Amino acid sequence: MDTIEQFNEHVMPTYGRYDVVIEKGQEHTAVDENGKEYIDFGSGIGTNSLGFCDEEWVKAVCEQAHKVQHTSNYYYTKVQADFAKKLCETTGYSKMFFGNSGAEANECAIKLARKYSFDKYGKEAERNIIITLVNSFHGRTIATLSATGQDVFHNYFFPFVPGFVNVKANDIEDLKRVLSENENRVCAVMFECIQGEGGVIALEKSFIEAIFQECEKRDILTICDEVQTGVGRTGKFLACENFGVKPDIVTLAKGLAGGIPIGVCLADEKCKDVLTKGTHGSTFGGNPLACAGGIAVLDKVADEKFLDEVVQKGYHIWQRLINDPEVTGISGLGLMMGISFKTKKAADVCKACLDNGLLVLTAKEKLRFLPPLNITYEEIDRGLDILEKILAQ
Ligand SMILES: *Cc1c(COP(=O)(O)O)cnc(C)c1O
Repeated sequence: MDTIEQFNEHVMPTYGRYDVVIEKGQEHTAVDENGKEYIDFGSGIGTNSLGFCDEEWVKAVCEQAHKVQHTSNYYYTKVQADFAKKLCETTGYSKMFFGNSGAEANECAIKLARKYSFDKYGKEAERNIIITLVNSFHGRTIATLSATGQDVFHNYFFPFVPGFVNVKANDIEDLKRVLSENENRVCAVMFECIQGEGGVIALEKSFIEAIFQECEKRDILTICDEVQTGVGRTGKFLACENFGVKPDIVTLAKGLAGGIPIGVCLADEKCKDVLTKGTHGSTFGGNPLACAGGIAVLDKVADEKFLDEVVQKGYHIWQRLINDPEVTGISGLGLMMGISFKTKKAADVCKACLDNGLLVLTAKEKLRFLPPLNITYEEIDRGLDILEKILAQ
């Protein structure tokens, strides 16, 4: 039985997969079981931030595996302490919680925000509503699905978690209306600076500023879901830096440990002590291998020169594609890009790229690039050669 048959016989078919079995990868190229090579413009949905098997990253993870791979959270490990210190110093946040995925990071943010208001205003105040945006994506657990502002996700799994209300992105009037309709009931506003799964759509700066103004007035926490946009993806370590704001809570995951499961919730001074002993936890949270991988990622990415290069590489891609007669628009920031086409369907282009040795993603009706952050210009150009040929057909 071949790999694909064996897989499909034993694994629930929740994903639409391509008939490709990836066997290994090196730097920014994946190799399938037939030896065919693919340039990687997806990095496993933005997780392999340093590409495949980055030398320092492999060394850090292997060395940690030889020391201790897990301890439970009843004990301390140095690698966790080192990673946490480095991440807090890099981002300017006061404290963090360790989880294993984007959804878990957001679950933590949701619990933290609700407890912040519970502690301060009491149970009777029922100050527990979290405003999220239409077309957002926050995860696949029941609470994060409930937070997700897309109706397609609100099916089958009823009842969903109450206490989430949607506002239209970039609509300040709608934000004000929902806030006043729910006066003294809202504990947080949660948003992505650039909606990733929603189609690589950046929020307007004025709208983000309005969120912060309205929240400040009412002691409402701001939660920025940077699961996809964080860790250098947009050319700043946090995407919110591009918009000149510092949310009370930031969640990170995808690219944070270079491809090992991790998710963290960062809290600023105001809310760093809300989650107390026994109020939250995760068995695998803070896994030492993930922390070792995370330190290796931060060592490279949390560097101004490296981040400038992310911007330059994004600009290089933009310059090459913007005049393509089939391209009608390019959205996003840094190395998080969405490409719109005049006549072609993104899904068809994605499949043709795969057939021709280029891994890309889609987001709604756009082609999406989330290449490894350290991809070279040479590899970018080879990938774009493949894409341009397909667009010309
Ligand atoms: C991917 C993603 C999530 C969910 O992350 P998982 O690791 O799949 O749980 C949440 N929010 C955003 C913005 C994402 O892009």
